[in-house]
Amino acid sequence: MDGLYKLTIGELSDLLSKREIKSVDILNSYIQRIKEKDPQISAYLYNDFEEALQNAEAADKIIASGDDFPSLTGIPLSIKDIFLIKGKKTTCASKILDNFISPYDSTVVKKLKENNYVFLGKTNLDEFAMGSSTENSAYKITKNPYDLNRVPGGSSGGSAASVAADLCAGSFGTDTGGSVRQPAALCGVVGLKPTYGLISRYGIIAFSSSLDQAGVLSKDVTDAAIMLGAVAGFDEKDQTTRRFEVKNYAEIVKKADKSLMKGLRVGIPAEFFSDGLDPEIGSKISEIKALLKELGATIVDISLPDTKYSVATYYIIATSEASSNLERYDGIRYGRRHKEEDGKEIQSLDGLYRKSREAGFGNEVKRRIILGTFALSAGYYDAYYKKASLVRKLIIKNYKDAFGKADVIIGPTSPTPAFLIGEKTADPLSMYLSDIYTISVNLAYLPGLSMPVGVVKNPTKDGGVLPVGLQIISPWAMEDRLLSVAKIIEDEVGKYIRK
Ligand code: GLN
Repeated sequence: MDGLYKLTIGELSDLLSKREIKSVDILNSYIQRIKEKDPQISAYLYNDFEEALQNAEAADKIIASGDDFPSLTGIPLSIKDIFLIKGKKTTCASKILDNFISPYDSTVVKKLKENNYVFLGKTNLDEFAMGSSTENSAYKITKNPYDLNRVPGGSSGGSAASVAADLCAGSFGTDTGGSVRQPAALCGVVGLKPTYGLISRYGIIAFSSSLDQAGVLSKDVTDAAIMLGAVAGFDEKDQTTRRFEVKNYAEIVKKADKSLMKGLRVGIPAEFFSDGLDPEIGSKISEIKALLKELGATIVDISLPDTKYSVATYYIIATSEASSNLERYDGIRYGRRHKEEDGKEIQSLDGLYRKSREAGFGNEVKRRIILGTFALSAGYYDAYYKKASLVRKLIIKNYKDAFGKADVIIGPTSPTPAFLIGEKTADPLSMYLSDIYTISVNLAYLPGLSMPVGVVKNPTKDGGVLPVGLQIISPWAMEDRLLSVAKIIEDEVGKYIRK
């Protein structure tokens, strides 16, 4: 069967269970596709086709031996290079970890292995997940499959591009301030960041521990539900995971029906439609608003007044936590140990720390360590970190009030479509503003999903288009509602045709 790489996980699983195809066939289709397309897109940091073949053959045996196999059996997936996989390199796109071999499996990967998935390779990211364009990778720049001169978004840009260009069936990423949803929006795929604590972070390299959450990037909403169900749940190895009930999201999504929209209160926050929003994106989101109204939803105007502080709050909390989390990269315990120019060991302990960190970290990472160290330093703690934590409480309260009036909230995921490579690198602040609509969701521990709802014209490419993402936010631990609403919208607007 030709073109297996185009299919969704749901479709592939169906064909596998009917014994119409084999996992090895799917894999071969992806290998060919990757060899053909990835040299231009650079979504992957590395592939491991040998291991993938072993995985696929093992999955085929399992499928042949009975009808009852887990949902990701035989499905080729890519993984952001921030998740540990035992015996494999995990670089976090940083030079400081260029020789780091993971000593154990992250819980997400352990669960994927129990699901008999096929590991296709590790995807590119902004170094330590700090960025919105994947330009901060120490290794390569990933390109947007819609226009190779544009960024795929970040920090899970490799993951988003790998899904959008059909270089895998789905991908796992992480989202600290928007890193799953924003690249999903810019590449025209589905990106889900679940409630803080729903997926274990054990074995995921930490950036900002009160915000980091694993997430999924997929070709459609059903696949996001399947992938979430496979990895969600309490983990005794991660104290931030909760004993949530893990629902059968795939079944729930299958049953999602238009009638669910009748009387559903859809909140539209005024703050998500302010200056800085590309008017064409604004009008796409308004079309969705009209569609939901037509389906019987009640549209409510709401306000999240303190979200105007969310970028500032985030950049204090995230950099402070990062400065502390990144202390461990000292040239001794992890990764690269710097040597003198003549190859000799550096003699002083301080010198070893300093030189290893200076050579190992890129500029954005250094900028954040400096900012965070400053914000936490004696005399400044109250003025910055403590104040930011208090504003975070206000943002949480804003959402709580909003969810008294609305069942879900919708808005744009990103203020602009994919921007040009190099367009924002000289101005970190304008880059930080790419996450203006996603960051508050992390600060409030809430689940958020981005889905493609159409395209706008690409101003720099004749006849070209760029995808637009709709963000849906639901109350805490209500991924079932979030995914159902997304599925209904997807059924109405159609799955967006990928590149
Ligand atoms: N773009 C944001 C940042 O640079 C968010 C990153 C993320 O979610 N990992 O920090």
